[in-house]
Amino acid sequence: MAQATLTNGRGQRITLDGTTVDQLRAKLRGSLLQPDDPGYDEARTIWNAMIDRRPAIIVRCVGVADVVQAVNFAREHDLLVAVRGGGHNIAGNAVCDGGLMIDLSAMKSVRVDPVARRAFVEPGATLGDMDRETQAFGLATPLGINSTTGVAGLTLGGGFGWLSRKHGMTVDNLVSADVVTADGKLVRANEKENAELFWGIRGGGGNLGIVTMFEFQLHPVGPEVFSGLIVYPLDQAKTVLTRYAEFVKGMSDDLCVWVVMRKAPPLPFLPQEVHGKEVVVLAACHAGDPGEGQRAVAPLLSFGKPVGQHLGVQPYTAWQSAFDPLLTPGARNYWKSHNLTNLTGAAIDAVVQQLTSLPSPQCEIFFGLIGGKASRIPRDATAYAHRDTLFAMNIHGRWEQASEDERGIAWTRHAFQSMTPYATGGVYVNFMTQEETDRVGAAYGPSYERLRGLKRRYDPTNLFRLNQNIAPA
Ligand SMILES: Cc1cc2nc3c(=O)[nH]c(=O)nc-3n(C[C@H](O)[C@H](O)[C@H](O)COP(=O)(O)OP(=O)(O)OC[C@H]3O[C@@H](n4cnc5c(N)ncnc54)[C@H](O)[C@@H]3O)c2cc1C
Repeated sequence: MAQATLTNGRGQRITLDGTTVDQLRAKLRGSLLQPDDPGYDEARTIWNAMIDRRPAIIVRCVGVADVVQAVNFAREHDLLVAVRGGGHNIAGNAVCDGGLMIDLSAMKSVRVDPVARRAFVEPGATLGDMDRETQAFGLATPLGINSTTGVAGLTLGGGFGWLSRKHGMTVDNLVSADVVTADGKLVRANEKENAELFWGIRGGGGNLGIVTMFEFQLHPVGPEVFSGLIVYPLDQAKTVLTRYAEFVKGMSDDLCVWVVMRKAPPLPFLPQEVHGKEVVVLAACHAGDPGEGQRAVAPLLSFGKPVGQHLGVQPYTAWQSAFDPLLTPGARNYWKSHNLTNLTGAAIDAVVQQLTSLPSPQCEIFFGLIGGKASRIPRDATAYAHRDTLFAMNIHGRWEQASEDERGIAWTRHAFQSMTPYATGGVYVNFMTQEETDRVGAAYGPSYERLRGLKRRYDPTNLFRLNQNIAPA
């Protein structure tokens, strides 16, 4: 039995004796890890290597009962709490220093009901876990673009990807959720039961409780889709982006095209002389008939003179993991993000200028296209409020060594500032770093006050504070 020195919710240090810790351990079906235990370092390591925090206790939950026990223990001892789903969030709130980490990553079950077109997903499942299960039946729901991301965190912030123009945000496809609230109770939230809580968890970013089961609506997708990449050199960026901004206005909801601007990785379909040079990549996925997809994507090839293209019919699951090699865990990541409703000539000039000073081969700026159905849902239907966002722009600073931090962070901040005049002022909560507390109001936007009321009702002492935090009203 090892005693534990912990941080409480007010940042003070407290000591729990070994018996108290062992009493919690004895109540769990999963395991309890302390700093000297095997597996501790693995459990506290998350996607962004910039985050290096040491919880005093990690509860590795394997079921709802473990989550309830951990929440009750944290509340009774007034502990600082972190909640980990897939561990991908850039801000690193999945881990805490000195507190109790509630680790859901072992709860990975995905059950599909192909007749009712529903998926029941536990909070440790990744996008890849869910896509593999749903695609076995030719079904899917909108998720993000990197298969190792957690379904839980992505959903609670809104969630968007290749299917969002056709089927809405991830939260628009959430039918029901099981939630363990700060008082340790398990409640169901859907349009009929606890409807206000259901509204809040669809964009409230994990502030209101721990979701232990997500029930999603599914749609027929693929299983093969027409998708791929078209690569243009930097000197054609202005024309390509201008044509792109015009093209997306009249585009079908079946088609989604993102822009990724970076130094070209050594992709086999690119001539060697392009490797390492700045490029503008159009990444396209058509969620309908593959033949129609080919026709819909064809105009993108005439925006300029591409230096390479890799387009074709492939399994949807393959496309969903196409960007994984560029987004592996273990690198240092610092992001800044803007929401944009359009892409003007001045905005294009500003972004192209930033590409001339990329500080590392892994840094990139992308425009994630949303719009379509996601923008036709009424603004107050869910807590996710940025229905007018056409482009979620992410300045993705990424490098390997701590010694590169200063230069990389400076470039990211500068690129962000240069785009501020063209942005809405809103930001996608899931793309925010830990230091952006001054943007929390902008992230929740017009939903903020209603969320504060919900926070007071469901978590008045702010037990769930390690997130883009909503202070109780
Ligand atoms: C490489 C990469 C690509 C991405 N691409 C996209 C994309 O295409 N589209 C998109 O929408 N987003 C994208 N994101 C952002 C992503 O949605 C967020 O990082 C999200 O928070 C990840 O969820 P997670 O469960 O993996 O993270 P975690 O770090 O485990 O969790 C994030 C936060 O959510 C809360 N949380 C987690 N699980 C629960 C739960 N069960 N109950 C209550 N609260 C919980 C906690 O506060 C936690 O701090 C991307 C992120 C990365 C790193």
